Amino acid sequence: MQLMSDLDSSLTIPPYNTTPIEVIPDVRFRLKNAFKKGRTKHVQFRKQQLLSLAYLVKDNMTLFQMALASDLGRSNAETTILEIGGTLAETMGAYNNVAKWSKPERAPWSFNWFTMKPTIRKEPKGVVLIISPFNYPMWLLLSPLAGAIAAGNACVLKPSEQTPAFSALIADLVPKYLDPDLYTVINGGVPETAKVLELQWDHILYTGGPRVASIVLTAAAKTLSPVTTELGGKSPVVIDPNCDLKLTARRLMWGKVANAGQTCTAPDYVLVPKDFIDQLVHACKEVLQDFYPEGAESSDSFSRKIVYGGSTNAKTKFIEPTLVTGVKGDDSLMGEEIFGPVLPIIGVEDVDEAIEFINTRDHPLALYVFSSNSAFKLKVIENTQSGSVVVNDTIIQAAAEGLPFGGIGPVDFTFDMFTHIRSTLDSPAFTEHLLGSRYPPYNVRQVRTSDG
Ligand code: NAD
Repeated sequence: MQLMSDLDSSLTIPPYNTTPIEVIPDVRFRLKNAFKKGRTKHVQFRKQQLLSLAYLVKDNMTLFQMALASDLGRSNAETTILEIGGTLAETMGAYNNVAKWSKPERAPWSFNWFTMKPTIRKEPKGVVLIISPFNYPMWLLLSPLAGAIAAGNACVLKPSEQTPAFSALIADLVPKYLDPDLYTVINGGVPETAKVLELQWDHILYTGGPRVASIVLTAAAKTLSPVTTELGGKSPVVIDPNCDLKLTARRLMWGKVANAGQTCTAPDYVLVPKDFIDQLVHACKEVLQDFYPEGAESSDSFSRKIVYGGSTNAKTKFIEPTLVTGVKGDDSLMGEEIFGPVLPIIGVEDVDEAIEFINTRDHPLALYVFSSNSAFKLKVIENTQSGSVVVNDTIIQAAAEGLPFGGIGPVDFTFDMFTHIRSTLDSPAFTEHLLGSRYPPYNVRQVRTSDG
């Protein structure tokens, strides 16, 4: 029997090479030409490419685990649960549904128009660009790719330069599994991405932070390229003391420590009645001790109180799961998205103050409510705005089939994003006796008719 360690040592990740800037315009030109040949119009072709994409992931699971361990220091279990499973499910979902999704639809029946067979055709947009971030390198690159393939587009992938092992691996595998004239990877950082953004694209999907999003949107405005941006933000958690405390602490802490807190929908801060803070902190500490029996000791800081965790190691890029109390609304922790395993806990008088706190800030990507009381849940949901809301759990919405989560949605939503809805009418000659009065020379009767 072959051992995992033997298997690992026989596998190597190719070196990371940036794409030479001067070839970038040619890449787009090549894809545009291949797209025009029409191969992607056939559903059978799309299905074959989707199946190859699924095999790309499945055949190379160990290599992907190795790459993501090297880039993110992530455990193989987290890579499998958080990325590989979702990517495969969405790719196969696209494979199974592409024929149904891409069927033309008849417009609702209308007496005035039915003779012209008004129809909505689902057509590819053309050559699309996907720019993805470092935190879920596979899922945020390949799931939208599945949507782009299903919709019949050619596609350029621009993964993050901050995950060089993953980005090198994907650049090596894409031409081996997918049609290289239609799907390709451009690797690089700011100069390469800036060059890519000088070109016109039929759609750009950008997932990342707001600062770079405004650079992408400004560049796209110059070429009139349509853009979808999927950004992060501070996702609040509102906790009602009338909740299942053990379960709340477990699910809250999981959402915060999964991928070391680097999830766009990770719980960012907690709003809880002041007199319940101690019980919540105690329950969270127990959970963290369960999750990490070897956990580090707690320490204090002067302006606020770290009640659990706090240790870091710059060499190994480690930040301990950390709970912080005594945080005020204007604290630095409340400035930008935390995007790490640090959880501020903010005391409020009641649910009204929690709602007010949320509503005086930018709309969050996600909102979490923990409560056993239906009226409490509804009050928070109805009086706030957010990309998505989850009651009594965290971050699972991204995996729920059929639900967009306010960030990149499941593959049926990316299919729609990369699809051009094309209206068609076929006007038969016999409608002349109904529509003939539109032609000049105009007369008094036409004026009266259009006056009503
Ligand atoms: P980032 O914005 O730094 O990088 C994302 C991509 O932009 C990378 O491919 C990078 O090469 C490119 N880029 C960086 N600087 C650029 C520049 N000056 N010009 C052109 N392109 C440039 O984001 P990140 O740090 O990799 O990702 C973290 C962010 O992504 C967080 O804010 C997180 O919340 C967000 N995010 C959002 C979602 C969602 O679906 N809404 C999902 C995951 C992550």
